[in-house]
Amino acid sequence: MAIELPPFPRAEGDPIVKYPDPVLRQVAEPIKRITPEVRQLVSFMRRVMQDANGIGLAAPQVGRSIRLILYTDFSDESAPEVHALINPVILKTAGEQLEPPEGCLSLPGLMGTVRRAQTIWVKATNMQGKVIKFKAEGLTARVIQHEIDHLDGILFIDRADPATLRWVTEEEKEQEAVAASK
Ligand code: ZN
Repeated sequence: MAIELPPFPRAEGDPIVKYPDPVLRQVAEPIKRITPEVRQLVSFMRRVMQDANGIGLAAPQVGRSIRLILYTDFSDESAPEVHALINPVILKTAGEQLEPPEGCLSLPGLMGTVRRAQTIWVKATNMQGKVIKFKAEGLTARVIQHEIDHLDGILFIDRADPATLRWVTEEEKEQEAVAASK
C-alpha cells in the first residue's frame, strides 16, 4: 500500500514551484480545450516569467500538471517574443549545442552544461487553437527542449554533465541583478 505523504510545502507568495516538489516529476496531462482558465493561466505565467527574468516556463512550474509552456523566441535578436504552446511535441532534431549553460527557475542558483539539439521541428497548438509546425534553432530550440522536458517530469539536472553542475557565484548574482535592473 502506498503511503500518503503530506503535501509538499510551497513558499507562500512565491508562484514558482521549487525542486523537489513532486509536481515537477509528474508527466503532465494533455490539454483538450483552450478554456478561459487556460488563457488565464497563460497570462499568469507570462507575468511570473517576466518577474523572474526567465526565458521559458512550463505549467508544472506553477503547480499545474498540464501540457502548456511559454518560451522566448530569439530568432529576431532585437525583438525577442514570448509565445505559448499547447501540447508541444518535437517531431525531429538535428545537430547539437553545448552552450550556454542552463539554469531553471525551479532550481534557483544552479547551473550546468546540457547537450541539446541545435535545431528542432515542433508541432503544437497555439492560443488560437490552430495546430502549427515550425523550426527553431540555437537558444530558442534550447528553451523549448528544456520546457517540454518539464512536461515529462524531466529536469535539466537529469541531462546536465554532472562535472559542470555548479552554484551561481555571488558576483554573478550581482551582475544579474544589474542586468535585470536595466
Ligand atoms: Zn526549468
